[in-house]
Amino acid sequence: MTSRSVLITGGNRGIGYALAEHFISLGDKVAVTSRSGEGGPEGALTVKADVTDPASLDEAFAEVEKEQGSVEVLIANAGITDDQLMLRMSDDSFESVVNTNLNGAFRTVKRAIKGMMRKKQGRIILLSSVVSLLGSPGQVNYASSKAGLIGMARSLTRELGSRGITTNVIAPGYIETEMTSQLDDARKKQYLSQIPAGRFAAPAEVAKVAAFLASDDASYISGAVIPVDGGLGMGH
Ligand code: NDP
Repeated sequence: MTSRSVLITGGNRGIGYALAEHFISLGDKVAVTSRSGEGGPEGALTVKADVTDPASLDEAFAEVEKEQGSVEVLIANAGITDDQLMLRMSDDSFESVVNTNLNGAFRTVKRAIKGMMRKKQGRIILLSSVVSLLGSPGQVNYASSKAGLIGMARSLTRELGSRGITTNVIAPGYIETEMTSQLDDARKKQYLSQIPAGRFAAPAEVAKVAAFLASDDASYISGAVIPVDGGLGMGH
């Protein structure tokens, strides 16, 4: 496999950072975005972008295209949580989580597919979550945004499948990052008791699955939702 142009949104920490490290280790040209324009692993090009701002995304893509060619593998990973029970959840909280996680992926993918359609090849991977199908108390905003990504991937598969572009979803369970470090011990204990694997996962375990989906070996997989959750979401 030749060195591909890979772009990962939110690659300065957590799962995005591990994704970038792994694709670099495979010999790919890797760019990551962060809102500060800083961070990311050694060997990655870090560009500044906020997925809620289409102009900043456009600038980031232009920089990536100049440095490493048009994006061949896109991983829409940037995401936030803002947990609150439904009765207390404000419109702002719902809208900002959906705007980052779902609308942000829409904006990023829309910008990326121009180049992919020209080349008649591409790999799109959307980072959803086990809660998209399982549901989670206090995460009506987050689960809605992550469920939306599944509809997005499947519609994109129908639109772009004949053009050599695959779109898949990864639905992680509990991965140890800054995002999950905010959960209180009671919630962590509760999750752990429900995970057949009996442990939480490392970000690198998500990265290896993404690498498979981006590889030639996965050329006939599209519109799939791949769980990386130790069995937590089984049956969904
Ligand atoms: P982190 O909180 O560790 O990192 C989130 C990343 O998203 C950061 O790089 C952050 O960049 C970026 N980001 C947030 N908002 C924006 C924005 N508006 N524009 C651009 N970038 C933004 O999260 P994780 O690594 O844990 O999660 C990564 C993805 O995986 C998320 O989509 C998350 O929902 C999903 N996921 C995570 C799970 C887990 O257990 N950790 C489980 C299931 C899904 P910045 O530094 O600029 O804030």
